[in-house]
Amino acid sequence: MASYRITLLAGDGIGPEITAIAVKLLERVAQQFNFQLDFDHQPVGGDAIEKFGEPLPASTLAACKASDAVLLAAIGAPKYDNLPRQQRPESGLLALRAGLDLFANLRPVAIVPALIDASSLRPEVISGVDLLVVRELTGGIYFGQPKGRVQLENGEERGFNTMTYSSSEVDRIAKVAFDLARQRRGVLCSVDKANVLDVSQLWRDRVNEMAGAYPDVNLSHMYVDNAAMQLVRQPRQFDVLLTSNLFGDILSDEAAMLTGSIGMLPSASLGSSGPGLFEPVHGSAPDIAGQDLANPLAMVLSAAMMLRIGLKQDAAALALENAVSAVLEQGFRTGDLMADGCTKLACSAMGEELLRALA
Ligand code: ATP
Ligand code: MG
Repeated sequence: MASYRITLLAGDGIGPEITAIAVKLLERVAQQFNFQLDFDHQPVGGDAIEKFGEPLPASTLAACKASDAVLLAAIGAPKYDNLPRQQRPESGLLALRAGLDLFANLRPVAIVPALIDASSLRPEVISGVDLLVVRELTGGIYFGQPKGRVQLENGEERGFNTMTYSSSEVDRIAKVAFDLARQRRGVLCSVDKANVLDVSQLWRDRVNEMAGAYPDVNLSHMYVDNAAMQLVRQPRQFDVLLTSNLFGDILSDEAAMLTGSIGMLPSASLGSSGPGLFEPVHGSAPDIAGQDLANPLAMVLSAAMMLRIGLKQDAAALALENAVSAVLEQGFRTGDLMADGCTKLACSAMGEELLRALA
């Protein structure tokens, strides 16, 4: 029987509540599909600051590296907001991404038919939307040098960051996007600002060069401002969107709102080798933490991505996704998705319904 080691990073806020549900569901599908999961709970974020005095203890990173996949819930709490940037819980997440060399962030955005009314956009605009944002995660303006703040002689202060990409950084994320487009509908849109930025022209040149190896993929380029507009005008035109770190951050939050709630969106972060990191797009939601109010579905869908991409257990992944669709079709909703005629459930009760749907 296949057996996998999963590092569980429950983290902060609603993290432990939604992790508990994901674990129960994963144990159930593992049993149903005849494989074994060994869970290893490790602290990260504020949880790790309390226990070890730092947001990413070496023991947590080592456990992640030694596992087959990492499932993370959420990081961060308001009580740490006044700490220096490097000591805050969130810096643990950046260090984890860097430590596992997770350069490719995959954010699928698919409209669940039962939630078509939960979106702020009209049903005829969003019905059938099924797109994937492939965001570069370890380069670009977030990491480029030089950066900082300097005092000028005229008494002003100047702040600056640098957007840099090397050809190899573009090539490796472009390859991920082309490969995924090939597995999906074969349509790839690369987003840049090549009319203004030199770094974007390099990006576009490298993507064009790679297109030669993918004659079956229909490649187009779009300026980021137009892409932001097209996402709410006609989102069905997109299959795979390839973006740099900053543009992907912005566009994927915009795309997220097509679905109705941030509590629905999973993500995967992958490197060239080693385990992937799977986590919901939402944060630790401190305003509802510990009250059994959170929507656990993004976490459950992240667990499904882990099964499919990280462990190649496609049937088990599909079973989890089907359970999510089934509970929504039955009208069960957590508070963030509540609508007329639906049944409002607590986080834990949603977990019970998901288990029932799996059986
Ligand atoms: P981060 O910086 O970690 O991304 P954030 O400050 O951007 O965090 P979130 O923690 O994602 O924000 O919360 C934003 C809002 O969405 C909050 O009102 C929160 O309660 C709500 N929210 C987030 N996740 C969920 C969820 N799973 N279920 C219900 N509501 C959620
Ligand atoms: Mg956020």
